[in-house]
Amino acid sequence: MAPGRVRSSYSESVRNELARVTPARPCCELAELAGLARAAGVIRISAGGLVSLVVRTSQPQVARRTFLLMKGIASGPVRMSVLRDRRLGRGNTFSVEAPLGAGGVALPPVLARLGLVDRRGSLTDGLPRGRLTRACCRKACLRGLFLGAGSVTDPEHGYHLEILATSSALADAVRDLMARTVPGMTVGGGAGVHERQHFFAVYVKDAGLINNLLRTLGAGTGSFVIERALAMKDLRNEVNRRVNAETANLGKTIRAAVEQAEDIKRIDRVYGLHRLPDGLRGVARARLAAPEASLVEIGARLRPRLSKSAVNHRMRRLRQLAAALKKGEAGPGDSGGY
Ligand SMILES: [Zn+2]
Repeated sequence: MAPGRVRSSYSESVRNELARVTPARPCCELAELAGLARAAGVIRISAGGLVSLVVRTSQPQVARRTFLLMKGIASGPVRMSVLRDRRLGRGNTFSVEAPLGAGGVALPPVLARLGLVDRRGSLTDGLPRGRLTRACCRKACLRGLFLGAGSVTDPEHGYHLEILATSSALADAVRDLMARTVPGMTVGGGAGVHERQHFFAVYVKDAGLINNLLRTLGAGTGSFVIERALAMKDLRNEVNRRVNAETANLGKTIRAAVEQAEDIKRIDRVYGLHRLPDGLRGVARARLAAPEASLVEIGARLRPRLSKSAVNHRMRRLRQLAAALKKGEAGPGDSGGY
């Protein structure tokens, strides 16, 4: 599947679940917000010089999470508003805004702590490296990025997870963060970057790695669904394997039945079925009457009934007789003893 065409309902359920995860430690809250702000935030400076951080999301759970995280850094009350999208079929957009204080010559220092500006106050486009030294914070930051700009395809339809980045530098930083955070992923391995019109999509297409990533971020249900889809695939393969094996067996059975009928017809032509001992004649006639019947079914047609192995034994004798007739060595004595 081409990157970008991601089914939304499954993505939403995963994001909703991740939005309910509480970071392991207080240090992780800033890291998660850093990811969220980088992925879905803008810095706004009002006419009066007031600086605020605004995060927009279409999902109420993500908006709620953003609101809670922003309370930790805001210099005043955090505001949440709903922007109704008039275009048909589009949901609402939630806007969460945190005032950060007055911007004078320098921007509020919290922006540097979030990695949105560097020490000199210039805007950056990467991630706050200094904030990501701890494993717990790396997870939280990656979760924030996914909440802000991530999506994942329903595993029933394919394996594709991606996080959109606004610059090539950010895409590289996200990829690097994945490699340092997700079990099984390595630098330069596991995630790819796909350049699109206005974005760089950091994507993962391996089911196992997507599973590891979602689990690392704290999604129990989402990763369970992927595992279930994998299990379904295994099951499908197993069913196919069995059907193929059974078809092969069926083919063998039918081939054997056709050969038996040919042998019996030869015996009838060259020797005459009426000259066969009763036991062999009964099996021969039953086979001609039911060319597709299994040995068990043929045994059931006979009076007295015969077991599969008894029918098989007689078929073998008929086969030997037919082979002997083919060589012109047959005599009535060959079929004696029945
Ligand atoms: Zn932490």
